[in-house]
Amino acid sequence: MARVFIISNRVAVPNPDRGVHAGGLEVALKATLRRHDCVWLGWSGEVKPEGETQTRTVEAGGVTYIVTDLTEEDYEEYYNGFANRVLWPILHYRLDLAEFTRRDLTGYLRVNEHFAAELDNVLEPDDLVWVHDYHLLPLAKALRQRGRHNRIGFFLHIPMPPPEILTAMPNHERLIPALLHYDLVGFQTDGDSQNFARYLASECGMPAHIPRRIGVDDRTMRVGAFPVGIETREFTRRARRAVRSEFVRSVRASVPGALMLGVDRLDYTKGITLRLDAFERFLMANPKWHGKVSFAQITPKSRSAIHEYAQMEREIDTAAGRINGTYGDVSWTPLRYVNRPYTRTALAGLYRLARVGIVTPLRDGMNLVAKEYVAAQDSTDPGVLILSRFVGAAAEFEDALIVNPYDPEAVGAAICRALEMPLEERVERHRKLYEALCDNDIRHWGDRFLTELTGYDMTGSLRPNSPREASGGISVPARIRRRSAGFSMTASHHHS
Ligand code: ADP
Repeated sequence: MARVFIISNRVAVPNPDRGVHAGGLEVALKATLRRHDCVWLGWSGEVKPEGETQTRTVEAGGVTYIVTDLTEEDYEEYYNGFANRVLWPILHYRLDLAEFTRRDLTGYLRVNEHFAAELDNVLEPDDLVWVHDYHLLPLAKALRQRGRHNRIGFFLHIPMPPPEILTAMPNHERLIPALLHYDLVGFQTDGDSQNFARYLASECGMPAHIPRRIGVDDRTMRVGAFPVGIETREFTRRARRAVRSEFVRSVRASVPGALMLGVDRLDYTKGITLRLDAFERFLMANPKWHGKVSFAQITPKSRSAIHEYAQMEREIDTAAGRINGTYGDVSWTPLRYVNRPYTRTALAGLYRLARVGIVTPLRDGMNLVAKEYVAAQDSTDPGVLILSRFVGAAAEFEDALIVNPYDPEAVGAAICRALEMPLEERVERHRKLYEALCDNDIRHWGDRFLTELTGYDMTGSLRPNSPREASGGISVPARIRRRSAGFSMTASHHHS
């Protein structure tokens, strides 16, 4: 059977000595790594002086890992530079925060070439290649230029903005049309796919009509939504156990009244400043809740090397101090703002304990915290999820309290509504949310993508799926399919 090459920026080689915490992508790909003969290639996480970088191959748990070091220059230009100072903000609709330099773009393209060269050393013609995320947009193009005809798929974990935003990115015409070198491009939601289609229509002269197939030279390229999920039942069991732990019991004992919980990496896309603003307005408007609700915002720091992150940290610290200073009492701390990471189990227990889960990013590809919160609830007495309309998860979770995170008064009102929601309504909403979660369990995600990439059923034997059968589009969970608008394009494309 063909090998599956997974390519991503970071590769976390399992290390039993250090008990490395499984990263998000590792959890998402767990079933794929188990079921297929996989090779995972990417950055080792190490930065070395020029001339001292190495590429190593490690076998662990039935998976081959090929990890390559970056030079200091690569790290600054490719990772901190173009990926995190240009692509991250722009793909999250934040043109105002992008800091473009040609030098960073050159570094980005250079590292993509380097990954392509490493891959080229080991790839066999029938191997499948699955590339992940915004760090590696031009990888297929670099491989094609090396004469590779393998099936290559790409999945974007973060949002794809509309062309009106994308075209403001300097050199977008070198990067976005490069996606046409993939055989399959997957996004988190239909909205993201539609945005990409609109870009191709407006910038590459492609007319918009056949469901998700694009004629590119002599190949067909497909586009589809593959929303990332979680291991729902496993997470529910974990939460049920965790809530009895010493840690969660001590938290419960220390909270007078209800707990509202926010869990996010410290990132400007997460809307934490506006969320604190909403909480403040809620406190201002609802004195009856003073002393009866505590908001725990758990926010491990990330990317502190980038200026915008440091500035946001200061803003949040100030708001947190103001809220506790204004409303707090010796016996009650309205806001507990914490900057450390917790284990999955501790988080699961906290989610279950929380009467309200508040997830209000300004923009997010999917948002797994929302899914984990729902999975963790006790179905007989569940908490309420407040969810931003601007996260991918909102497409599956219409039964959450959907809010506009830019409207702190409305979010403040939603906090009140969540806290006062009757048991019957909470149970009913949670039942529907949980059903949506089960419809789209992460165990099937990798195989859905690979099946679509190959045209073969990758879940069992290699059963061919005739192109006709697949032409209804991509197999997506029924719930998502119902809402699927799909888009289409034929036309042979002139590559950039
Ligand atoms: P992003 O990928 O942008 O960080 P997601 O919500 O999609 O956002 O995924 C975040 C993941 O990181 C979740 O699985 C969540 O459980 C985990 N996580 C977030 N905050 C913490 C924390 N304080 N400690 C440990 N894990 C965390």
